[in-house]
Amino acid sequence: MGALKYCIVGTGFAGTCALWHLVQRLTAPHQSSSPETSAITIITVERGTVNGPGYPYSKDNVQLAHRCNNQASTMSIHGNDFIDWMTENKSRLIRDHAELVLETHPGITLADWQPDNDEFYPRALFGLYLEQRFQEALERALAHGIHVHQYMRHEAIDGRTEGETFSLTLRQLDTHEEFTIGGLDRVLLSTGHWQTKAADAVAKSDGFMASPYPPGAVKSAVANKVRSQPGRTEPPRVFVQGMGPSGIDAILTLCDEGEFTYTHDGHVASYRAAAFPGAGGPLHIVAGSRCGFFSPIRGPLATYEMHHLTEERLAAMRREQNGYLKIDAILELLDLELRRATGGAVGWADVVSPRYPSAREKLAVDLRDSYTGNLVYTVVLKARRMRFYSVLEPRDKAVYDRMLDTHFIRTAVPMPAANAEKLLALMDAGVLSVVKLGYDAPAPVVDADGAFRIACQSDDGQPITIRADCMIRASAQDFAMNLHPSPLMQNLLRRGEVVPHEEGGYVTGGIALAPGGYRVMKRAGSVCIPSAHLASFGSPVRFWQNERNFAGAFVEAAEWVADEWLEVAVVMSAADKPKPAAGRGPSIVTVEMRR
Ligand SMILES: Cc1cc2nc3c(=O)[nH]c(=O)nc-3n(C[C@H](O)[C@H](O)[C@H](O)COP(=O)(O)OP(=O)(O)OC[C@H]3O[C@@H](n4cnc5c(N)ncnc54)[C@H](O)[C@@H]3O)c2cc1C
Repeated sequence: MGALKYCIVGTGFAGTCALWHLVQRLTAPHQSSSPETSAITIITVERGTVNGPGYPYSKDNVQLAHRCNNQASTMSIHGNDFIDWMTENKSRLIRDHAELVLETHPGITLADWQPDNDEFYPRALFGLYLEQRFQEALERALAHGIHVHQYMRHEAIDGRTEGETFSLTLRQLDTHEEFTIGGLDRVLLSTGHWQTKAADAVAKSDGFMASPYPPGAVKSAVANKVRSQPGRTEPPRVFVQGMGPSGIDAILTLCDEGEFTYTHDGHVASYRAAAFPGAGGPLHIVAGSRCGFFSPIRGPLATYEMHHLTEERLAAMRREQNGYLKIDAILELLDLELRRATGGAVGWADVVSPRYPSAREKLAVDLRDSYTGNLVYTVVLKARRMRFYSVLEPRDKAVYDRMLDTHFIRTAVPMPAANAEKLLALMDAGVLSVVKLGYDAPAPVVDADGAFRIACQSDDGQPITIRADCMIRASAQDFAMNLHPSPLMQNLLRRGEVVPHEEGGYVTGGIALAPGGYRVMKRAGSVCIPSAHLASFGSPVRFWQNERNFAGAFVEAAEWVADEWLEVAVVMSAADKPKPAAGRGPSIVTVEMRR
């Protein structure tokens, strides 16, 4: 093992990105001060069996129809690398994964395929990209004499500072053997998404799914519930709670038995329904959310320069308010901006409650607008990109989280056009309908006969109730750290190695970071100080969900971590700390995956 030890816990997009940038820096030729690579060990720890894809892009968690939510040109660990990777691997992808190419380019002659910057490829394809880039980064590290140790099917369950370094306790997930790796100089917590255990009464009922992933588990839970009701006369009904990207994934998972037909130029023409296993016919899917509308459709941004809600205006407001912003003032400016952009037709109140008679109608209009640029989406996206959340007054953050994020997210994080076309085809085929739940609807309950009862609103705003045989929760993640299910997070919190971020009494969700970077804050007696060892980015950190949940932000953070870690290596090499055997002899690569 080298004298300087880095450890990456969690090798999804964040961990892979950090590894890639770290290895590039450590092995870059012509550096003014090169670190002694044979003195370096990189350790990776991953619960899963594959490094790279993490949660959203793992083949167990996706179905062919589940697309990346962003254009290929914005989904890379650096530069335009996802496109470059597809181009480099074109023949292999056509040979071994033709279905992943055809999903995005239906009906093309495969030999003519050119990876397209503006297209939305299946998440499974992005997972293959991350897996390969992870492996290549390790190989590059090895070729430069860096020691590499991969722990797969291992979960980090505890961690503590010990003297000058950090120790992690790992559990092998098949044998349950536990052991500690010590002497770590730097540790990245890139542990990503988590699923808070659903605690409400419906969660214990047959036919309830707390998440749309993995799709295989969703389908078998629905099939089991349907088989338990042999005498039914109506199509089984599944309620999907949430109409964001994961709600759409849930809908597409449930429609997988049927088939979409395409026009000659690759647009969805119709949906041919097919029987769901054990149901004797197709399912009927009801999607619902508080507002009852899907997000707009991703397309080119409309040409529009912000006039009222500008960086300068926000800076001036902060100067007047001790560095903080007030949400009411921002919404006022946003309202003016929307009205200016749309000639007075649309204001903020219309974003909160879109003035469309049905979800179908809004989707159709949004799809049409997406070809030329949707002004409302453009303005709200530009507002969100100003990253005002982190400088809101604490009590306004609470208001934003409870009441407003849903509208910003829904409007500023649009869906690929292909998904919109599919949703319209499903509605036209009578397979999908949409309900509005309202903002103060009672939670769904379960009847004595096992059916879910969902309170919602009719088109004219009257309270109604629908019944469903199954229910899939596809609503937002809870970021409260005290509800984080992982032993690692709970132990780090207990030991004060990480602390929940809190402002003016409001616990925002996520862990606290030192200002200006990605160093984790830890408790030291009665105060909090930057950890000497731990860094983190992605879902576990404060505000990430409100401001930075897009690939470019991961790259920016990974580069920060890689720069900081490189500096440690350079300092160590310059100080000539004791190193293992001189020279760049054969390195160690070990893979722990005992099953
Ligand atoms: C369904 C879904 C779809 C998305 N689609 C997009 C998209 O199209 N475009 C986009 O830009 N963003 C998308 N996102 C946002 C997403 O946050 C990022 O793209 C990215 O995948 C997050 O990567 P991550 O590494 O932080 O987390 P994850 O992908 O969750 O990876 C974390 C990894 O850490 C491992 N791990 C966790 N705890 C431990 C432990 N204690 N010990 C060992 N290993 C551990 C997990 O097994 C996992 O592999 C999507 C998010 C979701 C949930």
